[in-house]
Amino acid sequence: MIIQIEVLMMIQTVALKALRDNYIWMVVNPHDSTCIAVDPGASAPVITFLQRHQLRLSTILVTHHHPDHTQGIPDLLDQDPLIIGSAHSTCPYINRKIQEGQQLHLPQMNLTLRAFETPGHTLCHISFLIENQLFTGDTLFSAGCGRIFEGTPSMMYHSLQKLIQLPDDTKIYCGHEYTQQNLVFASHVEPHNLIIKNRLAWAKTQQNTLPSTLAYERHINPFLRSDHPDVIQAAQTYNPETTRDPIDVLSTLRTWKNEFKPDLLL
Ligand SMILES: [Zn+2]
Repeated sequence: MIIQIEVLMMIQTVALKALRDNYIWMVVNPHDSTCIAVDPGASAPVITFLQRHQLRLSTILVTHHHPDHTQGIPDLLDQDPLIIGSAHSTCPYINRKIQEGQQLHLPQMNLTLRAFETPGHTLCHISFLIENQLFTGDTLFSAGCGRIFEGTPSMMYHSLQKLIQLPDDTKIYCGHEYTQQNLVFASHVEPHNLIIKNRLAWAKTQQNTLPSTLAYERHINPFLRSDHPDVIQAAQTYNPETTRDPIDVLSTLRTWKNEFKPDLLL
């Protein structure tokens, strides 16, 4: 199901919903009918989209190896795509490995992408920047961050810090639609934050809350605000052993969030 089209100067980025709450982002170059699929966790929505719009899949981006981001790849191999992912990834389909800070020109799309290694959710997690669009997989969500499965709170903290160095108008395209439940948690952490309150009211009226922007995330995302006095105080109230170290605060927030929605797998 196509639910959104975001028009930039050249490319169009389209959201395909897959599985329970995953997004597959399709970056389309309308001038030569090629496109990129980001994290195809299922093949059927991608194949339907390609056929309907008579597009060729030139590239797949893989943020990390989890099946809900990769299990659509085998059915897309007949398109012979370039499959770009972390040099450290265990995903067997990656045929173009990329590392921290590397830029890669995609001649077929006339685009350049830049890679940021963002470990924490998994050790091999990588995020991709194309123009001002940042594909963050399961590292940075709107108003939240991924669960820390393979890495450490320190890794996740430094990954998030790396991403928020980008400009305010950077658009955030993440791997799941978790915004509303993340904002419910954020409003418990910062009950007096009116931007969170207003964003939550807005999110309740939307089927698709993405892309977000870094400007918004700086105000509504507790995991980017672990040095803010109100967030520190909330974390210390939840767990009095929490220090003022922002990594320690992030660690407590992540534990708190896990217990706040115990059935939620990010
Ligand atoms: Zn994941």
